[in-house]
Amino acid sequence: MTRVGFIGLGNMGGPMCGHLALAGFEVRAFDISEAALARAREAGASSAATAQDAAAGAEVVITMLPAPPQVEEVWRGIIPALAPGTLAIDMSTSSVAVGRRIVEAASARGVDVLDAPVAGQSIGAQAGTLAIYVGGSEEGFARARPLLEVMGDPSRIFHLGPHGAGYTVKLLLNLTWFIQSVATAEVLSVGVRAGVSLEQLHRALVGSPANSVFLERDVLPVLESGDYDDAFPMRLVTKDLALAVELARDAGVPVELTALVEQIHRRARVQYGDDAGEISAIRLYEDLAGIELRF
Ligand code: NAD
Repeated sequence: MTRVGFIGLGNMGGPMCGHLALAGFEVRAFDISEAALARAREAGASSAATAQDAAAGAEVVITMLPAPPQVEEVWRGIIPALAPGTLAIDMSTSSVAVGRRIVEAASARGVDVLDAPVAGQSIGAQAGTLAIYVGGSEEGFARARPLLEVMGDPSRIFHLGPHGAGYTVKLLLNLTWFIQSVATAEVLSVGVRAGVSLEQLHRALVGSPANSVFLERDVLPVLESGDYDDAFPMRLVTKDLALAVELARDAGVPVELTALVEQIHRRARVQYGDDAGEISAIRLYEDLAGIELRF
């Protein structure tokens, strides 16, 4: 069975690594957190002492790290340990620019690199039903597919183009969602302050051409119980939005709305903390308007 090195065993990487081990892949895992490593061992992976140790001798190496600085640091460290022909897959939400530098260093060693970030939250990682957005060669994608199908929903594994296409699409879908969360916060706050009942307003919007998955489904935990979804913290939200701004700048497209939405989420992070839940922008509007948006 394919030998896999898996580095980064947090909310997402932990369950993803566990699914690979359960499916029979020979997984050697590494994380700087001893607790995360212990969970990977319980899930059937063997643990490595360093990232290099996890990568050495692996046919496929996967990373699931917080942000571009960790992604770059880890790959810089392990590329010299990889044998020619190894397949390298970064599944973190990271930047095209960092990815490009990794590809340069890896291809000098005959290592093929895919970017394959995911959507579906930690619930999707636990269930093995993630959507996966892949950039890279056809050949690399074909080699990766059996592993990706263990971690994701086979009908939502998309090969989107050359390396970088996966990061790009992932950042854009997150951007759309975070724009919608601010738009929803504004609209609901204004409606409630203007005297309309939240239930009636929400029901009317869901039944209108202005409906969205955010409005119909994702905002419900806030409206029902004040749950702003701690599983994806504001430190990662603002990381993703900064990467979206960078992407737009590199593409040469002015994005006033994106820049403004990024600042609103930054403000929510400052106000409620790095670990506050990903929908904390709604809490910001609730506090500004002096209301609680609850059914
Ligand atoms: P996390 O913070 O829970 O986990 C990251 C893990 O990486 C931690 O266990 C940490 O100890 C480890 N780590 C950090 N630096 C390391 C290093 N140098 N060497 C080895 N291990 C290191 O984050 P997460 O929620 O699992 O997210 C991982 C990636 O997936 C991020 O890019 C995030 O944006 C993306 N993502 C997260 C979600 C979500 O809902 N949580 C959804 C989609 C995508």
